[in-house]
Amino acid sequence: MQKIIKIVCILFCTHTLFAGIPKNIILFIGDGMGPAQITAARTMKGKLALEKFKVAGFVLTHSANNYITDSAAGATAYATGHKTYNGAISVDPQTKKPLKTILEFAEELGKSTGLVSTSSVTHATPACFAAHVKSRNQQEEIAEHIASSGVDVLIGGGRGYFLPKGKDGSRRKDFKNLFGAMRAYTFANSEMEFRTVGTPERLVALLESNHLNKAKDRKIDLATMTQKAIEILSRNKQGFFLMVEGSQIDWAGHDNNKNYLIAELLDFDAAIGVAQDFAARGSETLVLVTADHETGGMALMGGSLERKKIEIQFSTGHHTAVMVPVFAFGPGAENFGGIQQNTHIGKMMFEFWQ
Ligand code: MG
Ligand code: ZN
Repeated sequence: MQKIIKIVCILFCTHTLFAGIPKNIILFIGDGMGPAQITAARTMKGKLALEKFKVAGFVLTHSANNYITDSAAGATAYATGHKTYNGAISVDPQTKKPLKTILEFAEELGKSTGLVSTSSVTHATPACFAAHVKSRNQQEEIAEHIASSGVDVLIGGGRGYFLPKGKDGSRRKDFKNLFGAMRAYTFANSEMEFRTVGTPERLVALLESNHLNKAKDRKIDLATMTQKAIEILSRNKQGFFLMVEGSQIDWAGHDNNKNYLIAELLDFDAAIGVAQDFAARGSETLVLVTADHETGGMALMGGSLERKKIEIQFSTGHHTAVMVPVFAFGPGAENFGGIQQNTHIGKMMFEFWQ
């Protein structure tokens, strides 16, 4: 009987009519965000947006060549469903050939796509969704790949990697002007332009030459950037893929800086709230929240829920191998419970849309 229903569905239904298959996927990556970081944010804020997610699991993060992953191998696992070596941007660990990303697959399917980050968009995490290079350090080449990727919405930092040498804020060693070839886009490369840009077809909003400021000094918060991306992408009837990164959670962990860390986590959680609200208004959007790895070996040594106080200690200035959580909301969420490899998340996203 089930077989007959399946055949009938294959013949007459579109994929999105299947329960458990999302039309849209929003993937949040809190770079360096482990369980201690989330507990700390919860203590400081009270209830988190994240707590509306009813499915949670744990993710094994090791890379193809190291017990402790870096952000490049971590994001490659999510973007492509394959483990690779530390430093690789969506290339195969043996052949160094490109591995197809979920963003590229979404483009093939006629869906809209977006990348939002609080780092330069050429930094390892966002790069893995739209570029293929042997080393994360090849940021000028990564910018070229992003410029020709077809990504519809690009919000974050890294404007300098798209501007020719000599131009104000340029971070390139050559004279290529990548914006020049991106004719289909509306540009809003300053705070003022961003606030007045409306909802163009395709948007490039690279608000700093390199990374965005820290959360406490950012002119536009991640929630506002996420809201803008969703407004634009959700107009496509075929659906969309969006990746949003809380990039600097990791940097606060490397710095062992509590206040920096909490500010980044709360900024990230507010953006998750925006996506969750959007997803909850319909039934077609899967929201996933995870991390590439934990940073800082952070421990909560004491605190008070009433006084919103925490005492924390870091055991390292580097990444650790501890499992990170994954939270899922929306159609398909049930696939992300339990302990899973990071590649499972990438593979599942492809499977939904195959
Ligand atoms: Mg990152
Ligand atoms: Zn890091």
